[in-house]
Amino acid sequence: MQEEKKFKICMLGSSGVGKTSIMRRFLDGTFDSNQDVTLGALYLLKMHEFEGETYQMHLWDTAGSEKYAPLANIYYRDAQVAILVYDITAKESFDTLKKWYEEVLTQGPEDIVFAIVGNKADLARQREVDEFKVNIFAGQIGAINILTSAKDNQGVQELFQEICQKVKERDLFVKPEKNNRVLTPDEDEKAPSESKGRCC
Ligand code: GDP
Ligand code: MG
Repeated sequence: MQEEKKFKICMLGSSGVGKTSIMRRFLDGTFDSNQDVTLGALYLLKMHEFEGETYQMHLWDTAGSEKYAPLANIYYRDAQVAILVYDITAKESFDTLKKWYEEVLTQGPEDIVFAIVGNKADLARQREVDEFKVNIFAGQIGAINILTSAKDNQGVQELFQEICQKVKERDLFVKPEKNNRVLTPDEDEKAPSESKGRCC
């Protein structure tokens, strides 16, 4: 039997940009306009079909508040992908995204894939973040660059398809002997977790 291909994704960005909503949309196709604030981190497992193969995606959704920011390192340091989310209607969320990029670049794995995600695309009339500047930034760092609306189900599937494509191209899948250490944080250093995980 063929070994399933596994990799870890870490979601980062300011509180309220829509990280949890993007994950929910991807995982079970739902959207909650009163999405609860994430405490600590949320772990979810998604089996995803890509080009005839099943990928095991280990998704870590972190809390965006300042209080938990120092703990994020636990989640991104072994990740193959960092999804950096900003809210197109909140200028400061893009400034925060750039700080996350710098942190992951200096403290994260060398070959991590970056995805820049502008969420709440359904609120285009309230856009505050300059799309041109985002495109320049994403181009400079060689990141996936996409607009999403977790609310209207726009761009979310495409985001994860692009991620699978890049992980496959660079063959970043977790090697079987490293599975346990890489995909779940050590018990003793785990931040408060909202969920023990779920598979779908
Ligand atoms: P997080 O703190 O980054 O995890 O953000 P949440 O997923 O908790 O979302 C924060 C708020 O933004 C919630 O009220 C969501 O319902 C709302 N929200 C999330 N995604 C979208 C979107 O694509 N469009 C709109 N209009 N609202 C969204
Ligand atoms: Mg959240």
